Amino acid sequence: MAVYNFSAGPAMLPKKVMEKAQAEFCNYQNSECGVMELSHRGKLYAPIIARAEANVRELMNISDDYAVLFVQGGASMQFCMLAMNLLNGNTADYAETGVWSNKAAKEAKLFGNVNICCSSKETKYDHIPAFDTWNLSDNAAYLHITSNNTVAGTQYRTFPKSNAPLIADMSSDIMSRVINVNDFGMIYAGAQKNLGPSGFALVIIRKDLMERVAATVPTMLKYTTYAENESMFNTPPTYAVYMLALVTDYFKEVGGIAAMEKVNDAKAKLLYDYLDSTSFYTTPVQKDSRSRMNVVFRTPSEELDAKFVADAKACGLTDLKGHRLVGGCRASIYNAMPIEGVQALIEFMKKFEKEA
Ligand SMILES: *Cc1c(COP(=O)(O)O)cnc(C)c1O
Repeated sequence: MAVYNFSAGPAMLPKKVMEKAQAEFCNYQNSECGVMELSHRGKLYAPIIARAEANVRELMNISDDYAVLFVQGGASMQFCMLAMNLLNGNTADYAETGVWSNKAAKEAKLFGNVNICCSSKETKYDHIPAFDTWNLSDNAAYLHITSNNTVAGTQYRTFPKSNAPLIADMSSDIMSRVINVNDFGMIYAGAQKNLGPSGFALVIIRKDLMERVAATVPTMLKYTTYAENESMFNTPPTYAVYMLALVTDYFKEVGGIAAMEKVNDAKAKLLYDYLDSTSFYTTPVQKDSRSRMNVVFRTPSEELDAKFVADAKACGLTDLKGHRLVGGCRASIYNAMPIEGVQALIEFMKKFEKEA
């Protein structure tokens, strides 16, 4: 039986990538050592982390004005690290669009003032507030957004403009669609949704912003430490970065981000078109804010939601349970999910509705 894993993260990785990693697991390039066993300063490992960075730069078309960093601690570490480095007692604007944006704002408050410039909390984060309603500060250190809200299932179609550098948590939609990196001061993303294993974050930061980093920030928490040492001030998460190199090799092979965006659009359209065609399933998200990565929906009752998740699992469609904070169901359809997985899900949904 084919199994399709709809987990929100850690999420499925491309099958070809997993097979390549398996083939090289014990013996990388005839060294009789696995990548996990290689010195990070050695001849075999150096090209791996260099390739990971080069792939990210190529795929996202990143100029030399930006540093590309691999930082341990996941996206959640970036919530505080960002503020420690770039806020410094000043005020930053934070858009409140869901669970992760709140966590980011909470950490920032430890290092300065946070202005919640917009919020969709009152309607349970069912949309991205229209930009012309945002209340931006005059001299914000930066404006922080969560480009895709993994739990609520919303996503920015376009990005707000402001005088302050725009900083985005792109954990759940990085490399899923073409963006212009030059529109951002910084982008960060936990790797475990679209890029590889959990435990570290990809950070893309405009170099001039790093001039703000105060001497009092601990060495391991300074962006400059990572930038000045090619992310190898200490031992990086070597195997995880290797996996990111393989995943991004694969993205290049299949035609880059534009090609993946096409497939992602097609997958999301299939699923939303189906949801719109039935009244058995409902999605709370407003149409123009729908996420193409995390599709949230419900059946008519909580009991049926639970049955749906269990029955789907028995049919090889796993991890469809909604986030514990919101309940319901959620299908995460990141880059690695083939369109066949979405088709199989829809077939199952039709059958489930008929039998319910
Ligand atoms: C998953 C996720 C995080 C948390 O990532 P960790 O690596 O677990 O810290 C943060 N932000 C968003 C948008 C996410 O989807």
